[in-house]
Amino acid sequence: MARTAAREGGGGAHHGKVNSDGRRGRRGKAAGTPRVTLIPGDGVGPEVIGAAVKVIEAVGVKIDWDQQLAGAIALRRFGSPVPDQLIDSLKSTKVALKGPLETRVGEGYRSINVYLRKLFELYANVRPVRTQAGVHTPFSGVDIIVIRENTEDLYAGIEHQVAPGVVESVKIITARASTRIARFAFEYARTNHRHLVTAIHKANIMKLSDGLFLKCAQRVAREYRDIEYKEQIVDAACMRLVTNPHAFDVLLLENLYGDIVSDLCAGLVGGLGFVPGANYGKHGAIFETVHGTAPDIAGKGIANPVAAIKTGALLLDYLGYGSAADRIRAAVNAVLRAGRVMTPDIGGKATTAEMTAAVIRALK
Ligand code: NAD
Repeated sequence: MARTAAREGGGGAHHGKVNSDGRRGRRGKAAGTPRVTLIPGDGVGPEVIGAAVKVIEAVGVKIDWDQQLAGAIALRRFGSPVPDQLIDSLKSTKVALKGPLETRVGEGYRSINVYLRKLFELYANVRPVRTQAGVHTPFSGVDIIVIRENTEDLYAGIEHQVAPGVVESVKIITARASTRIARFAFEYARTNHRHLVTAIHKANIMKLSDGLFLKCAQRVAREYRDIEYKEQIVDAACMRLVTNPHAFDVLLLENLYGDIVSDLCAGLVGGLGFVPGANYGKHGAIFETVHGTAPDIAGKGIANPVAAIKTGALLLDYLGYGSAADRIRAAVNAVLRAGRVMTPDIGGKATTAEMTAAVIRALK
């Protein structure tokens, strides 16, 4: 697919038409004010989610936010990182805008993100990675959609100690989930006029698990003759991504490879501060950035709000406010192209609040 300047940076109608089953475009606009669960999250979460909410308000879309705590802050306040009221809210709204949640390394409770994605069967994680005009990176015109299976693989969290000094982590791959995510990727590609799906794997080593994932992808690919299908081993794919990212269009990955490759792809377009994300299921969606709680900059008011603001735009697409979402993306582009108000991660001196205010001014 030709990558024109118009495709750079997130403006225009290329944000990914997808609804909760990934097939028929956006979810139609519901009558009345949509109710959405708002989870500010941990670390920089409240700073960047606050920015996204302000921009959504400024673009004129009314949302009835049901604010809920999750993660470390909920543990401190309610004694649980997933309080009952959070689950009740998600069951009722079926859609959330969520900040990142802290998960301790090697100890503590299991990832709440993984738990919520599994609980609500949000099986498709979609991350549009695009060059942002005004942000200097080694490559221009990067335009990759990362589609990651969200419910199984090593993230099933089945780990046990076999004997002292010996542990096992179980990698679960099923035909059902692999076929479902492959179909989502091809439907996404068709709906959004993409030309190539590349399945990324390590089936040379994990012949059974990644082998099954590939077989399912191949079977689905045969139903989509209009879309080219390729396969690549994950290590070679990583090398190729950082030497020739233009060789890729839609990436189809299992959970772990998808997690790692998402951050690698974010690095291609200026860092984690730029990449929005969404988790889609048949019955709902949670919108969240690729980045985490950024503990090194949390509370300093300098987090880049662009990823969260663009995640807010994905939420508006889903709710049926596509033109408001396009206006937000255009405003973000205008601010970055002008290059005057930038956060420190991209060489500027502006605060999160100043950059958010600049985006709001650019809406008008
Ligand atoms: P991270 O994404 O939080 O940060 C990695 C680096 O990118 C840091 O240097 C950080 O300052 C920078 N960065 C991230 N977001 C930025 C932004 N908006 N603006 C400017 N710089 C930004 O990854 P990490 O440090 O590995 O993880 C921290 C915590 O976040 C961990 O507890 C992890 O489990 C959690 N996490 C949560 C989610 C989620 O909730 N979906 C995703 C990833 C990580």
